[in-house]
Amino acid sequence: MQDCIFCKIIEGNVPTTLIDQNDDLIVIKDIAPKAPIHYLIIPRKHINNVLELEEQDAHLMAKIALMAKKLSQKLSGSQSFRLIMNNGADAGQKVWHMHCHFISGHHVSDF
Ligand code: 5GP
Ligand code: ZN
Repeated sequence: MQDCIFCKIIEGNVPTTLIDQNDDLIVIKDIAPKAPIHYLIIPRKHINNVLELEEQDAHLMAKIALMAKKLSQKLSGSQSFRLIMNNGADAGQKVWHMHCHFISGHHVSDF
């Protein structure tokens, strides 16, 4: 999609630090990390957010979870991590291409 930074990254038109990828997803380092390990798991398909998710895209949510498991295992056996998806401006969404934050490497408090 035009003017979408994540689509541009997926197309290879914007440089990024690629962590992993498969047919459905790419994983990149967040440009402004908020934890020692802060990755973004991004479906290749442009979907604004979960509010735009259709039945035929449902597998992407499972793929995101399986990718998170793989990332955790690659880091140090099986490391604790948090998955966050911001959906909508009031939830803090700034990039309107669905993505999941993979946050790890420090102790996080309850919320
Ligand atoms: P949101 O608030 O939409 O859930 O999160 C968007 C995230 O994308 C932010 O954590 C921000 O730092 C990250 N981000 C925005 N632009 C870029 C970029 O060009 N490259 C990378 N690697 N991350 C980006
Ligand atoms: Zn996009």
